[in-house]
Amino acid sequence: MELETIQLSQKTEQVRHQVRNFLKEEMEAGTFIPQCDSWLSKWDPEFSRKLGQRGWLGMTWPKQYGGQERTALERYVVTEELLAFGSPVAAHWFADRQTGPLLLRYGNEKQKSEILPRIARGEVFFSIGLSEPNTGSDLASISTNARKIDGGWLLNGSKIWTSGAHRSHYMVTLCRTSTKTDNRHEGLSQLMVDMSSSGVSVRPIHLMTGEHHFNEVFLEDVFVPDDMVVGTIGDGWKQSMAELAFERSGPERFLSTFPLLVELIRVLQQETTNEGGFTAVGRLVARLTTLREMSLGVAGLLEQGVSPDITAALVKDLGTQFECQIAEVARLLVSSSTRVANSRFKSLLADAVLHSPGFTLRGGTTEILRGIIARGVGIR
Ligand SMILES: Cc1cc2nc3c(=O)[nH]c(=O)nc-3n(C[C@H](O)[C@H](O)[C@H](O)COP(=O)(O)OP(=O)(O)OC[C@H]3O[C@@H](n4cnc5c(N)ncnc54)[C@H](O)[C@@H]3O)c2cc1C
Repeated sequence: MELETIQLSQKTEQVRHQVRNFLKEEMEAGTFIPQCDSWLSKWDPEFSRKLGQRGWLGMTWPKQYGGQERTALERYVVTEELLAFGSPVAAHWFADRQTGPLLLRYGNEKQKSEILPRIARGEVFFSIGLSEPNTGSDLASISTNARKIDGGWLLNGSKIWTSGAHRSHYMVTLCRTSTKTDNRHEGLSQLMVDMSSSGVSVRPIHLMTGEHHFNEVFLEDVFVPDDMVVGTIGDGWKQSMAELAFERSGPERFLSTFPLLVELIRVLQQETTNEGGFTAVGRLVARLTTLREMSLGVAGLLEQGVSPDITAALVKDLGTQFECQIAEVARLLVSSSTRVANSRFKSLLADAVLHSPGFTLRGGTTEILRGIIARGVGIR
């Protein structure tokens, strides 16, 4: 699949300026301080609602379901700006990025008309229930299961590493709805679990930073009504894989530590005469430019309705390594200079270093992505 060079239209650049102005105003008003990895860990429902009011959530969805019918590239520049500023976007991130498109494609009319407008207003938040204890990369081996009863399904099992489960309203849960056959991908389904249902309990797993972001989720005889099944019973594998293409293709896969890069440049300008530092930053910026071109190319494919699985895997693999590299370059430059007094920089660096082990794991590990790429180019 060939990636085209994307030229952003004037209208798209206007959207960028609107978002940029909004973010500058919010920063000046003290609403947020730029953070690394803000799309995963900075949860601010009020901020999400403000974005919803401006039409920056569910941007590409039909107006009928609360969307704005904007292009994928317009959505791209909005997400790019939100990430570049390190703004607190975690609350709505999964719902806007993947649950909305999932429901649009596979959801029933009730789910689309009731839930999508609430996502687009920044009122309802989702978590993703895929991984289980002993089941991460080999997703088809999950053991959470649902049994058919009158009017719905009775769900039992547990999920792990569930980002934001303690604060989200719903969790899209992959589960087994019929016993395993020779084809392990058959008999899986997606159920939308209301997190306030009886039988749902959430236990925190704290990050190295001390933040509560991850969870274990226990599901004991949780009743899920029929109208909360997403798509078709038995088609959960196909649907989840389509969802992962959205999960892997966005600019959050190379911009998680961008606020640190900005501050690093400021530090180099203000506090050191480190020539090696400028060379290292120059290399980072060159890589960033290439990654951005590739990522925009993926957004262009989405715009054309193409599912860019292999290219998205490639961008995610290269992009997440790049995010880690920013943290590493910044750490090495600072450790060779004792004069850095910029406290903003120090705090961004600490965040980036402590969050970076997860970058190449979440959304599919490096090894799994390379397997997908190898299969895609016919060498596996
Ligand atoms: C920050 C963060 C947020 C997350 N949020 C969520 C979430 O919201 N919801 C959710 O469901 N999950 C979430 N996860 C979990 C994530 O999807 C899993 O960690 C990931 O899929 C890997 O699974 P695992 O941890 O079980 O590792 P394993 O699958 O056990 O893998 C361990 C190691 O073995 C390698 N490996 C495994 N299989 C192969 C193979 N076939 N070939 C070569 N190497 C292999 C892997 O690459 C990895 O290095 C999150 C993870 C992180 C770090």
